[in-house]
Amino acid sequence: QARDANEIEFMQAVSNVMSSVKPVLDQTPEYRHHGIVERIVEPERIITFRVPWLDDGGRVRVNRGFRIEMNSAIGPYKGGLRFHPSVNQSILKFLAFEHVFKNALTTLPMGGGAGGSDFDPKGKSNDEVMRFCQSFMAELFRHIGANTDVPEGDIGVGSREIGYLFGMYRKLDNRFAGVLTGKGLNWGGSLIRPEAAGLGCVYFAAQMMARRNDTLEGKTCLVSGSGNVAQATVRKLIELGAKVVAMSDSSGHIYDEEGIDAEKLAFIQRLKNIRRGRIGEYTEKYSHASFTAADPAQEENPLWRHRVQCVFPCATQNEINKADAYRLINNNVKMICEGASMPCTEEAQEIFIDKGLLYAPGKAANAGGVAVSGLELTQNSIRLSWLGEEVEQRLKIIMKGIHDTCLSAAEAYGHPGNYLVGANIAGFVKVADAMLDQGVI
Ligand code: NDP
Repeated sequence: QARDANEIEFMQAVSNVMSSVKPVLDQTPEYRHHGIVERIVEPERIITFRVPWLDDGGRVRVNRGFRIEMNSAIGPYKGGLRFHPSVNQSILKFLAFEHVFKNALTTLPMGGGAGGSDFDPKGKSNDEVMRFCQSFMAELFRHIGANTDVPEGDIGVGSREIGYLFGMYRKLDNRFAGVLTGKGLNWGGSLIRPEAAGLGCVYFAAQMMARRNDTLEGKTCLVSGSGNVAQATVRKLIELGAKVVAMSDSSGHIYDEEGIDAEKLAFIQRLKNIRRGRIGEYTEKYSHASFTAADPAQEENPLWRHRVQCVFPCATQNEINKADAYRLINNNVKMICEGASMPCTEEAQEIFIDKGLLYAPGKAANAGGVAVSGLELTQNSIRLSWLGEEVEQRLKIIMKGIHDTCLSAAEAYGHPGNYLVGANIAGFVKVADAMLDQGVI
């Protein structure tokens, strides 16, 4: 849409879905007659607000807060909160738009949304993060609710931030409600939720490999990022016998030819989650490994130059471009499974699909995170906590369902084996049909 032309990430996410669903629109004139496309790309509501807070020196700081309530045709708005200096309306609209289709694929009754702030938790004390979260929630609380809009974590929002946000919500609302997911285990959280996006991503990858009578066992893998999604992805890959040789953060990546085992992963988890350090510190402990600093001026990311069979981008959007894609292809990569939201540019996606690689888009492969958020809400509603095995079993079934749904939608519309087209069509049809049923609103 011309009026959003300057919202680059949002336009990218829209173009990605719209190019897949063209045959659906051609075959179903009702969608065009009822303005489904025009309505689905327009958020139902955008909330923008001031977030003032006091730093440790007593100085007033001001950030900008957002919540994009994109689509609630199949359930309450649901999607992450991102705290990162790069956050703007375009990035949050792309995340919210992705959530509309991803959440539909889970089969759980959840609409799509996203929010966050340009606040950077890096380098801030715990007290500063707490004061920021409290101020953020002092406005957000009036717009969300267990049956309205249920935020969760994303980049820069982990269990610490969810705790501070939930505490403030509870105080303001004077109710203990399942209004955020990713809560602590002893105050309404679900087992497996923190790991769900990464675990689900690896289950999805295993399903893709099975189609080619293969497994992840013995495969060499690159994983970008070292946050929530990356850590769980690596954990599951290790459990399934794969060998992960690299991880990264925004400062660069480490390469460990011997593989990152469970003990080394535990070191990374302490480094990133507790000490909040930089990934390069890995080489101080494991001196045989190397660290390569990130250089945004370079056309290619050196992380993607390593020769491996499987790639799991789990950091951020557009981290694999056309040059990176060609480098991976030349190195004989077999599979790309996205843990992050939109980590491949459109050009990179096209290259992977044209070359016949197994390629899974994030809206299908990382849907395990929001799926277990849905299960957390169910547990909150019935006031029960399921065992970890039970949640993981449900997650596995949901991921298999998403995998099979993508394949059958792709097949039905003449793109057999194309997970991107399949995910976009299956998610779109579910939401579009609900919008048709509910009239022009
Ligand atoms: P975290 O904040 O836990 O981790 C993010 C990781 O990515 C960190 O290692 C961070 O490095 C790195 N990173 C962030 N921005 C950049 C950048 N611009 N360039 C290079 N590296 C970067 O976030 P999550 O793991 O929760 O989220 C990662 C991705 O997964 C996002 O795309 C998110 O939308 C998606 N996702 C998350 C889900 C969840 O449940 N949390 C669910 C589904 C998808 P550093 O430490 O230096 O900042």
